Amino acid sequence: MDQICIDVTENYLPPTENPPIREDKAGLAQELDRRWKNGSKIRIRFINGSESLKERIKNAAETWLEHVNLTFEWISEGESDIRIYLTTGDGSWSYIGTGALKIPQNKPTMQFGWLSEDTSDVELNRVVIHEFGHMLGFIHEHQNPKDNPIIWDKAEVYRRYRGAPNF
Ligand SMILES: [Zn+2]
Repeated sequence: MDQICIDVTENYLPPTENPPIREDKAGLAQELDRRWKNGSKIRIRFINGSESLKERIKNAAETWLEHVNLTFEWISEGESDIRIYLTTGDGSWSYIGTGALKIPQNKPTMQFGWLSEDTSDVELNRVVIHEFGHMLGFIHEHQNPKDNPIIWDKAEVYRRYRGAPNF
């Protein structure tokens, strides 16, 4: 089974009961109050990782730049908006949009839990584009409360996800 992303928020609870959500032109759900200002330059720093893996992640992440009015500045030291931690045997996640700015400088704002030199390009692109989507303010589609067309088979959902790691 594909490994999935863990939801994280800089607060233990969402900032408001019903955060304002809108769909962008592509129909993606985005949290309006965590969007980066148009034209922002987002400073991104890797906490660790090999040069080759960092390069692959950068290339995958920059796929987004064709679709947003933002720039990424990859820095190797100093204060950053986004800090990426690479580890293995743990989950992948990212804070949503500008929520990352509330995280202390000594903590990651995005984690990749299973990327290595051996990861295929398909899997690396999938995970990096997914987590950078969160960094840009997008949420999982099932969290979009608006006109949600998904009709859940609740019994099946509970059956499938009641085991590890979803306690
Ligand atoms: Zn996710």
